[in-house]
Amino acid sequence: MALIVQKYGGTSVGSVDRIRNVAKRVAKTHDQGNDVVIILSAMAGVTDSLIKLAHEASPRPNKRELDVLLSTGEQTTVALLSMILRDMGYSATSLLGFQADIRTDAQSCSARIISIGGDRIQDLIRERHIVVVAGFQGHDERGNITTLGRGGSDTSAVAIAAAIHADTCEIYTDVDGIYTTDPNICHKARKMDRISYDEMLEMSSLGAKVLQIRSVEFAKKYNVPVHVRSSFNEEEGTMVVNEDDAMERLVVSGVTCNKDQARITLKKVPDQPGISAKIFTPLADAKIQVDMIIQNTRTGGETDLTFTVSKADFREATEISKKVAEQIGATEVLTADNIAKVSVVGVGMKNHSGVAATMFSALAKENINIRLISTSEIRISCMIEEKYAELAVRVLHSAFNLDKEPC
Ligand code: ADP
Ligand code: ASP
Ligand code: MG
Repeated sequence: MALIVQKYGGTSVGSVDRIRNVAKRVAKTHDQGNDVVIILSAMAGVTDSLIKLAHEASPRPNKRELDVLLSTGEQTTVALLSMILRDMGYSATSLLGFQADIRTDAQSCSARIISIGGDRIQDLIRERHIVVVAGFQGHDERGNITTLGRGGSDTSAVAIAAAIHADTCEIYTDVDGIYTTDPNICHKARKMDRISYDEMLEMSSLGAKVLQIRSVEFAKKYNVPVHVRSSFNEEEGTMVVNEDDAMERLVVSGVTCNKDQARITLKKVPDQPGISAKIFTPLADAKIQVDMIIQNTRTGGETDLTFTVSKADFREATEISKKVAEQIGATEVLTADNIAKVSVVGVGMKNHSGVAATMFSALAKENINIRLISTSEIRISCMIEEKYAELAVRVLHSAFNLDKEPC
């Protein structure tokens, strides 16, 4: 007998029929003698529709109220699954974020989990209840409903698994596991049996939305083995675990693409100490996350400074940059939101040279221009025009021999 946490994503609970399919899987796991805690997302498309509704109601929806609205998506699915399980003869209880005592900070729309008071969940498990928890939501210290950012149900699941010391955390989604790249972009993508926490952290941060990055951070910190698999078949999926020797043999293990990018360039910035702080402090104060930063070579005491932000922050970041440009005497602010970031990831890169050269040559062969480059110990990212994103993913997948069959 084990304590199993299972999370089902939007497609897996996309209709009442699909929720019935989830109920059968949950019941089977329970019948085998296991204790089960289920975390659900909203039905596929519902969170997007709620965001659209909010923008119909208000040009800049208040973030606290947006959280109140968005959390209803998950409230719907947990109630439906619990009803179905009860009709099947099981004791099932749904819990919203605050009922499961998922405490977060007060950052509306992208809150971080601070603690989980697992008592209520544990009590229900002791009574052999199937506990069905709404993912993506929590509450701050003042009792406000908060949400955890897009894809946040993954984080709810892993954090709950860590809090209640679950034996395993299964993430059920619409693909069979974690692939060498998004299988919906490259049909030659290969499913991996295992991937290290560190590689998955990079892949998630670079656009592989199969796991929200914070869920991988929790998994690594609390050593939670995560099994990503499909809710539509019985196939084994991919285990996200600690790094081992076999993994290190692969130089590049995955390719990712992130289209949620926008670029801002400040032209002719005075090349003096303190200028970068003047540019980036107001962005940080506005809680805008800056990704890549590049400063051109100095010419005549001036330099161009380019950085990237997510598309959601683009408008606000542009407004802030224009104000700062005026203050520091930069001549112009150029912007573009038709860009994408493609990256190659692999722990084996630590000990191999030539990865960058292979990447740049592969993109050059297709005439894809590289606008910005950034690197870490285990990844290289290039900013390119958005229209080439899918092509770049496929080309890099082949260039690093990740295809199923050689081209
Ligand atoms: P869910 O609703 O179950 O949370 P998501 O849509 O958030 O599902 O995540 C699953 C999707 O992630 C897949 O349909 C796939 O398009 C995408 N994806 C991106 N990169 C990868 C990858 N390397 N491996 C598997 N899926 C990936
Ligand atoms: N429903 C939320 C979203 O669409 C959370 C999730 O699915 O994980 O982002
Ligand atoms: Mg998801």
